[in-house]
Amino acid sequence: MPEDNQQSQLIIGCHESSAKGYFAMAETAVKIGANDFQFFTRNPRGCKAKLIDPKDIERFTAYSHEHGIACILAHAPYTLNFASKKPEIREFAAETMADDLNRMESTPHQMYNLHPGSHTGQGAEKGIEEIVQTLNRVIKPEQTTMVLLETMAGKGTEVGRTFEELAAIIDGVKLTDHIGVCLDTCHVWDAGYDIKDDLDGVLDHFDDVIGLDRLHAIHLNDSKNPLGSHKDRHEKIGEGCIGFDALSAVTRNPRLRHLPFFLETPNELPGYASEIARLRAAWDNS
Ligand code: FE
Ligand code: FE
Ligand code: ZN
Repeated sequence: MPEDNQQSQLIIGCHESSAKGYFAMAETAVKIGANDFQFFTRNPRGCKAKLIDPKDIERFTAYSHEHGIACILAHAPYTLNFASKKPEIREFAAETMADDLNRMESTPHQMYNLHPGSHTGQGAEKGIEEIVQTLNRVIKPEQTTMVLLETMAGKGTEVGRTFEELAAIIDGVKLTDHIGVCLDTCHVWDAGYDIKDDLDGVLDHFDDVIGLDRLHAIHLNDSKNPLGSHKDRHEKIGEGCIGFDALSAVTRNPRLRHLPFFLETPNELPGYASEIARLRAAWDNS
């Protein structure tokens, strides 16, 4: 991932279906003007993951090199709950994540995003303790994958609704080089962080509490609901309460513009292609 702010291109893509494998996802990315993509490691409802096909990985790697795919982001099934009251649910999350991290070594030095979990009534503090325990069991010193905690909207008993909660998890993780954050613009907006009228204030706060050096990826989504609604309903870029200008400003911000962006908007591929084109044009002209 380029670290300097002099890069020539916005790094952006969208969430893709992994059904046809890595090479097919990379091909689709290139087709829609993307240079990164996100995918679920397995059916979001949990279940078994498809076996990794070494031939597919080989074709994917060569093709990505040739076509400038900058990075990929694997998303854990959103049904995993690392903060559950029930030990068997936490155990299932731990086993699934461990298996995912193993599989990810076939595409080394990429990123794995997870929802910290919902404390299901036992309180955020206890939930954070459980999350930290599991992460410390599952993250291995030899892994090359960066594990990212996603900022959450705060619906129900979700943990990770504030930067402070994420910082508390990160503080507890022993292998500190392997843990970071993925900021979801819809989620932070729904959580009450005003990235529309005070992006720099929100980034200052993030830097104070977590550290911007921990931020490795951005989910770029508009929101169907107003600031602080704690709802988590994504909207197309420019059709929601955050709006095109504010979301484009996120991609152009000097502290963020080098990061990879991933759209999770309610779109089919042509919709993603046009969002990517619009955001690129605004980025290039800035
Ligand atoms: Fe997510
Ligand atoms: Fe997200
Ligand atoms: Zn969401």
